Amino acid sequence: MFDVHGVTDTSHDKPLRLFYALWPDEAARNALLELQMQQRGRRTRPGNLHATLAFLGEQQATHLPLLEEILASLPVDAITLPIDRIGYFKKKRIVWAGSHAVPDTLIALQQSLADKLNEHGIDFDRKNDFTPHITLARDAQPPLDRPFEPFIWGIRQVALVQSMQEGGRLEYNVLTSIYLASET
Ligand code: ATP
Ligand code: MG
Repeated sequence: MFDVHGVTDTSHDKPLRLFYALWPDEAARNALLELQMQQRGRRTRPGNLHATLAFLGEQQATHLPLLEEILASLPVDAITLPIDRIGYFKKKRIVWAGSHAVPDTLIALQQSLADKLNEHGIDFDRKNDFTPHITLARDAQPPLDRPFEPFIWGIRQVALVQSMQEGGRLEYNVLTSIYLASET
């Protein structure tokens, strides 16, 4: 079949690999990079650092407006996340940064997103309990138990993100964002 331009356009049929994430601002990113320097393993590229809220996987591009609408409908209360914990996922061999004190506001945001995805029948990965984390390194040995200076991530940006392979390397491309209130 040909479209009106006489060229078959199948780009809209190609599924996109999508996820929702907390996206760090420059201050948080720099603090995470400092923490990352102390870790062994294959490090996440600086521009790719994030915390996943919900992983959707392959989705039709025609779903994008709905996914953006859902993002726009989320609560925007301020969230401050203390980063005071280095964790390890043994099976995945991932070293991550996270928190011993995940605030209720973040749990509420994730729950609201999960509820809305369920309401609209959008499949996402909910196998595991929600443990907000930023992957610092992959193919990694268990982390060294070193003290570090905790910092507060004042979360501002929540994004719908596309995961893609660009010239053999993994790129996360922010499609749409909302901005949370700031604490002060
Ligand atoms: P790669 O798959 O190449 O190792 P990646 O896991 O970072 O890289 P994606 O698989 O596209 O890239 O995942 C994007 C984000 O979603 C990452 O934060 C990843 O941890 C998370 N994610 C991926 N798969 C799942 C899943 N099945 N359940 C929960 N989160 C997932
Ligand atoms: Mg993956």
